[in-house]
Amino acid sequence: MGEEVVSEISEIQKIDPEISEALKAELKRERNTLELIASENFTSVPVLEAQGSVLTNKYAEGYPDKRYYGGCEFADEVENIARNRAKELFIADHVNVQPHSGSQANMAVYFASIKPGDTVMALELSHGGHLTMGAPASFSGQLYKVVPYTVDKETEQLDYDQIREIARKNKPQIIVAGASAYPRLTDFVVFAEIAAEVGAYLMTDIAHIAGLVVTGLHPSPVPYADFVTTTTHKTLRGPRGGLIICKEKYASAVDKTIFPGIQGGPLMHVIAAKAVAFKQAMAPEFKTYQQQVIKNARILSDTVREEGFRLVAGGTDTHLFLVDLSGNGLTGAKAQTALDAVGITVNKNTIPFETQSPMVTSGIRVGTPAVTTRGMKEAEMQHIGKLISRVLKNIGDEDVQKKVSGEVGDLCRRFPLYPSLEY
Ligand SMILES: *Cc1c(COP(=O)(O)O)cnc(C)c1O
Repeated sequence: MGEEVVSEISEIQKIDPEISEALKAELKRERNTLELIASENFTSVPVLEAQGSVLTNKYAEGYPDKRYYGGCEFADEVENIARNRAKELFIADHVNVQPHSGSQANMAVYFASIKPGDTVMALELSHGGHLTMGAPASFSGQLYKVVPYTVDKETEQLDYDQIREIARKNKPQIIVAGASAYPRLTDFVVFAEIAAEVGAYLMTDIAHIAGLVVTGLHPSPVPYADFVTTTTHKTLRGPRGGLIICKEKYASAVDKTIFPGIQGGPLMHVIAAKAVAFKQAMAPEFKTYQQQVIKNARILSDTVREEGFRLVAGGTDTHLFLVDLSGNGLTGAKAQTALDAVGITVNKNTIPFETQSPMVTSGIRVGTPAVTTRGMKEAEMQHIGKLISRVLKNIGDEDVQKKVSGEVGDLCRRFPLYPSLEY
């Protein structure tokens, strides 16, 4: 409202209608669906502007004041601002803002700390871990010996006694704490004690929870971990990218591993956008937003549970929760498809001690960062929880589908997304 219309891609329309149409369709999709994928968010228009800026033209291999190219004075300015803001935001000794993605950040930490054949101990993929935590299809599973830990069968939460025991027995070179699908808080202090006891590095991957961490809503691992990695596009709500935080003594190893070790020229336009996002994350409104994200996840998960669905680990302390559909005669794949059809986007997800294949799964993962960015609050969460339940209890019922689709559309119109964007 009152905002200027940004039509930065009207030029595309003239020269490339195919891509232009696809971008328009994507904006329309984002506006007209309820985005509940826990790893997604809607970044701000200033972040989009920075990411779509002329800095995409600039080669700046190296680091500020140590570049391999001329003309880097503004690239230096941008990267220094991004680094300083990230250091302030995370209360960090050293940061590297160049990783192209979360996976690249994790790769860099492994390469900087351990050798091929060494042992990585991390959360099993089907229990909420990430591919880069030793999955056979990932470089991490191919280069390293992997010792997985799991959540406890009864509580479906991390059991630190079990984790300590596995660490003592296997003497890993690095222990990874962090997850892509874990709804409860993680105790990084205990992880640090265990790592110290067995002489392992501690890497904590806060890709999902970075926004909660910088606002004090999830305990920070930064004081305790040797290395902290994150993405910048999930709860942190910045551009798609990665970030590494480490103790000063590892700064040079990390920087050398990112460049020239595994990356070439940094994406300076993305680094500019990261800087903008870090600035936004320091504002008081960002904490209010993250508080609402957690409140929304609690209300939405409570509603779904009251409707007769089982929550993994009994609920959530964070921005996401997992629903076990096996007691409702459903699979994750079936639920995802049915919800997709009414404009509610979630992802099928394995649950701890999964019995289905990863393409089918018994669960769905549901997150509130994106709908909270649109301004939705408790009342909308109760409404959405009931819509999810109606769809899942009436699979194949076209009348229900039509009605729910209509209500999804109404909700989306009441909480407009990117009103100033006009592709
Ligand atoms: C999303 C995620 C990553 C990887 O991020 P990409 O940017 O997709 O490479 C790494 N670790 C965890 C825990 C994640 O959730």
